[in-house]
Amino acid sequence: MYDFAYHKPATIADAVKILSADPDARAIAGGQTLLPALKHRLNRPPAVVDLSGIAELRGVKRDGNKLTIGALTRHVDVANSPEVQAAIPALAKMAGSIGDIQVRNRGTMGGSVANNDPAADYPAAVLGLNATVVTDKRRIAADDFFQGMFTTALEPGELLVAVEFPIPEKAGYAKMRNPASRYVMAGVFVAKTAGGVRVVVNGAGPGVFRQSEMEKALTANWSADAVAGVKQSAEGLNGDIHGSAEYRAHLVTVMAKRAVAEAG
Ligand SMILES: Cc1cc2nc3c(=O)[nH]c(=O)nc-3n(C[C@H](O)[C@H](O)[C@H](O)COP(=O)(O)OP(=O)(O)OC[C@H]3O[C@@H](n4cnc5c(N)ncnc54)[C@H](O)[C@@H]3O)c2cc1C
Repeated sequence: MYDFAYHKPATIADAVKILSADPDARAIAGGQTLLPALKHRLNRPPAVVDLSGIAELRGVKRDGNKLTIGALTRHVDVANSPEVQAAIPALAKMAGSIGDIQVRNRGTMGGSVANNDPAADYPAAVLGLNATVVTDKRRIAADDFFQGMFTTALEPGELLVAVEFPIPEKAGYAKMRNPASRYVMAGVFVAKTAGGVRVVVNGAGPGVFRQSEMEKALTANWSADAVAGVKQSAEGLNGDIHGSAEYRAHLVTVMAKRAVAEAG
């Protein structure tokens, strides 16, 4: 690790002030991604801004047909939240399936969404549920937020404050995990929302993406059989020592069927 300045502000305003002063400064939430990057010297921020003292970034709130989850809410808290379990059970279940217990006890919703690892879980739910990402400056629709591998619409110094999830009629998620890292090899999140059916693929490609053919099939007929006949093209998908692009493409259809069955 290189030397860096350490700050622990108590308010969003103070955190933003420090982050805005230097575009290379980094926020740290659960540290599950940033700390290994610092240890391996893959990242050299001059200053690290620890968000853990900012109480206003934590918690789950239901307001009518909307669930707001603070950026600093840990995966374990999303998984165990009665509000999330009642309103969007697929999201609670997803949170409970991230990594292992150590990762879930430290990792946060905001860290995962801001990081946008293509093999992470939450980006699929954020895009699949047509959520809104709330920052200290603006509100960003999920369709505009995820911009490719580890890239989002967040600007330097911009702090992710919360994610607002409209409560869907139905939602389900299924994934094939890499047995070693536990990250997603291919996953599919499906949702029947007020704005229509959404199907999102994660893990299989360089970023999360919507599967429009499956969305059409499920709009016409919400059933596992409807997606069984929709093949995902392998073009542009990831191929590595863990699985070829063709294998991942095959998994997308299998996971889509399971996700619809889970949604009911
Ligand atoms: C062994 C292991 C297994 C894992 N398995 C999975 C898995 O199966 N599925 C999965 O989805 N994830 C997995 N993860 C990732 C983990 O769940 C965390 O979600 C992820 O590391 C990011 O969250 P964090 O709170 O730790 O963020 P940090 O590491 O603190 O930060 C990550 C990045 O986000 C930025 N950031 C953090 N918070 C904010 C904010 N509020 N506003 C703006 N930027 C911010 C930081 O500056 C940094 O660039 C795994 C991690 C490990 C170590």
